[in-house]
Amino acid sequence: MQKRDDLFVRNEREAQLVDRAAELAARFAKRAPLHDRDGSFPFENFKDLKDSGYVKLTVPREYGGDEISLYELLLIQEQLGRGDGSTALSIGWHMGLVLHYRTIRSWPEELFRSFCLEVVEKGTLLNHFSTERSSGSPSRGGIPQTTAVRTDGGWLISGRKTFSTLSPVLDTFLVSASMAESGQIGEFLVRSSDRIRIEETWNTLGMRATGSHDVILENAFVPDDALIRSYAAGQKPKESGDASAWLLHIPACYLGIAHAARDFAVSFAKQYHPASLPSPIADLPTVQQQIGLLESELLVARHLMYAIADRWDTDPAGRLKLIPELGLVKYVATNHAISIVDKAMRIVGGASLSRSLPLERMYRDVRAGLHNPPMDENVIRNLALRALAEME
Ligand SMILES: Cc1cc2nc3c(=O)[nH]c(=O)nc-3n(C[C@H](O)[C@H](O)[C@H](O)COP(=O)(O)OP(=O)(O)OC[C@H]3O[C@@H](n4cnc5c(N)ncnc54)[C@H](O)[C@@H]3O)c2cc1C
Repeated sequence: MQKRDDLFVRNEREAQLVDRAAELAARFAKRAPLHDRDGSFPFENFKDLKDSGYVKLTVPREYGGDEISLYELLLIQEQLGRGDGSTALSIGWHMGLVLHYRTIRSWPEELFRSFCLEVVEKGTLLNHFSTERSSGSPSRGGIPQTTAVRTDGGWLISGRKTFSTLSPVLDTFLVSASMAESGQIGEFLVRSSDRIRIEETWNTLGMRATGSHDVILENAFVPDDALIRSYAAGQKPKESGDASAWLLHIPACYLGIAHAARDFAVSFAKQYHPASLPSPIADLPTVQQQIGLLESELLVARHLMYAIADRWDTDPAGRLKLIPELGLVKYVATNHAISIVDKAMRIVGGASLSRSLPLERMYRDVRAGLHNPPMDENVIRNLALRALAEME
């Protein structure tokens, strides 16, 4: 995996971050086929991520972390995606959420401080479980069937969350629940207890090693200060001041997978020399055409992603205006990633179907990007609404 000569690595600090991530990615790549085959959770990857200090990189400096920028986060997440998409996406939720809360500071400060110290000292991880079978993607504003009922000193939470990525290694997670008394939707910080169990439902086409099982809560108690924020039911939560740019860990992951597929196909084309040809297939105009097309899709998506991330990092006052562009990054990256892996497989030919090569796993993994937020139709609609508003 080339790192330091990457067009988007701008300085020595970024080069070092990318080197560390690439070293982890190389280890994860070796383990990926087995976990993909078995649909098992790669606990050893998460031990490596904790031992290497990766999980504290987005924690604020004042609480012992490295406070890396969004741009830097994308560089390292993309690198992990080149090794194993499942692990990149899974740890991406934690890394992104910590960056998000570091930026908007919506938690009670003491709670955030003690959580950050846990991340630094014990490697505690975080994710948000908001999807449910009947309410679908939370990005469409569905009302959770999970309930939070008032009790002495806190709340009792009951319900079933689906798509709960990272659930095998989480003791701490956020849950969205309807609050019967106020009619609002609350986001609560929940700690594992005997009132919470995992049902191992995750058996999917792609991203098989993300442990995205169902999590069931039965009167799970959370104290008063575990209510992070609330908003009116039936409405999407108001955009926070950071425009939810942390979700760019998703395009970074899928571009990482696509990048790995491109690397595989290009080196295959340089080496594969069939008996019918005077030289390797890389010399064929048809193959060069496919490589060029694939390269253009990868470059367009990466230029867009890093340009928008840099803008977000360097112009805090302009962040909310970037919402349509942030969605566009995800839309372009995930759709290009699907197309890039497809082209990589056409270059390699029938061998690409073999389960002994990584391409068929990448083909299945990139498909999942369509079903991570924001959804394509919302991105396109946001662009249309802005264009229409400009002409008023
Ligand atoms: C690998 C992976 C990891 C994930 N990890 C997490 C996680 O950690 N936490 C979490 O909370 N979620 C997670 N998710 C879930 C994800 O965020 C979505 O909630 C989930 O994929 C369902 O999205 P959907 O669009 O299919 O659902 P639905 O909203 O049920 O949509 C299904 C279909 O109905 C249509 N539809 C439904 N409602 C509307 C509407 N109002 N307007 C227009 N069309 C509509 C859509 O077009 C879509 O085609 C994960 C998903 C994947 C694939």
